[in-house]
Amino acid sequence: MADDFDVIVVGAGMAGSSAAIRLAQGGANVLLLERGAEAGSKNLSGGILWGHDLDRILPEWWHEMPVERHIVRKRFGFLSTDSAVSFDFDDATWRREPYVAHSVLRARTDAWLAKKAEEAGATVVTSVPVDRLNWEGSRVHGIVQGGETMTAPVTILADGANSRLALGTPIRPQPRLDPAATELGIKEVYQLDPGRIEERFQLGPGEGHAEEWVAGQFVPGVMGGGFLYTNADTISVGLILNIQSLFGRGVYSQELIEQFRLHPTIAARLKGAELVEYGAKLISSGWASRPAAFHGDGWMVVGDAAGFVFSNGIVIQGMNYAIRSGLEAAETALGSKKAKDSSASRLEEYHRRLESTGILSDFRDFESMDRVKWNSRFYTVYPRFATALFHALLTETGARKQPIRKIVRAAQKTAGLRTTTLLKDGASLARDL
Ligand SMILES: Cc1cc2nc3c(=O)[nH]c(=O)nc-3n(C[C@H](O)[C@H](O)[C@H](O)COP(=O)(O)OP(=O)(O)OC[C@H]3O[C@@H](n4cnc5c(N)ncnc54)[C@H](O)[C@@H]3O)c2cc1C
Repeated sequence: MADDFDVIVVGAGMAGSSAAIRLAQGGANVLLLERGAEAGSKNLSGGILWGHDLDRILPEWWHEMPVERHIVRKRFGFLSTDSAVSFDFDDATWRREPYVAHSVLRARTDAWLAKKAEEAGATVVTSVPVDRLNWEGSRVHGIVQGGETMTAPVTILADGANSRLALGTPIRPQPRLDPAATELGIKEVYQLDPGRIEERFQLGPGEGHAEEWVAGQFVPGVMGGGFLYTNADTISVGLILNIQSLFGRGVYSQELIEQFRLHPTIAARLKGAELVEYGAKLISSGWASRPAAFHGDGWMVVGDAAGFVFSNGIVIQGMNYAIRSGLEAAETALGSKKAKDSSASRLEEYHRRLESTGILSDFRDFESMDRVKWNSRFYTVYPRFATALFHALLTETGARKQPIRKIVRAAQKTAGLRTTTLLKDGASLARDL
């Protein structure tokens, strides 16, 4: 019996919709299924979109896509209890088209992308939570939803970090995500007049500012980073927290984001802004969170479902990998349709494409970064050290000036940072980054 579709894509996030657009453009009969009432209604990102991969399917997409602002400046820093040390990166090329990055709100961008998939010829159906993959032995032959089976020679899993369809199957044999390789993202959106945003962050019309903070000072042992991004008439703020470090601390994520928001540096940026939205989502990031395989007989896994989120405390990037992996899966599926072969050996092309486009190497090569990233001193001791150091260097009190060597020692003492530990962490940084 003939299959219902050439390809079924589960999940209309950045990965699924990009794949569906490319598939439809390439002449495939594609079904894109989304559990939310609208694409994007269940999605959450910080979010800064490094979207140049979209050029492949939607040239000059940023003119039409409902993006918020193009980013012209990034700030990275450390927060201690009541001070902050940060570095700014300002680049004139970021102010010119084609812009390098945009702030986005996923409810808007994902609905637009799904519409583009429909316009390209894909069948897009929302409010459809797929129950499971249709396994025939070791082969996936479409999906099952509400007792009904829909078949296709190729199914692309783009259902996000906590992929229910993969867990407990040969794709991810374990029943749940590994907390050591999973982070919790929480985000709040605050409304503020666009003019006040531009004045407060020294931006021109349409320009955006992004900042990321190492923020572990709130509860000892809890490791996390904070972000603040300007949108058109809102500001997104949030935290990305290491889940394992939250266990047994007796603290709720809601309390942590409140402390982040009330930090004097962050509170000054949010002054007069009104909370309009709140959300939380799991992030499965890095090489340790990869599935057992990225493809098999009749299936490929893309985006967050494949663990393609790069997060190192300074940046979090997942949407770019979602789009790129979605496009590579789509190219592979188009080749498989032409060859009338959807076996694992034919879909091996997807794995080769993940290698040749640098996706796998980005994660594999930076695996050792987790040792740096999940060093708890990075979140408490070093922010205290940096702020104590700069406080002493930059504050004039009338007291006799001290040589820098003494100032560094005093800051180490305040932060509880021994010289041997500093040297050990420095060596590990040089080795692992
Ligand atoms: C707080 C936070 C901040 C972040 N900041 C950034 C950032 O600044 N920049 C960046 O690049 N990345 C960021 N990320 C990561 C980024 O959001 C993800 O990498 C990206 O959303 C992955 O896209 P995706 O399409 O793979 O998955 P998702 O966006 O999760 O989409 C999956 C889709 O599948 C649907 N779905 C799930 N199960 C089913 C089912 N059974 N049936 C049908 N549909 C289903 C969902 O409803 C959803 O629409 C952030 C993440 C978080 C949580």
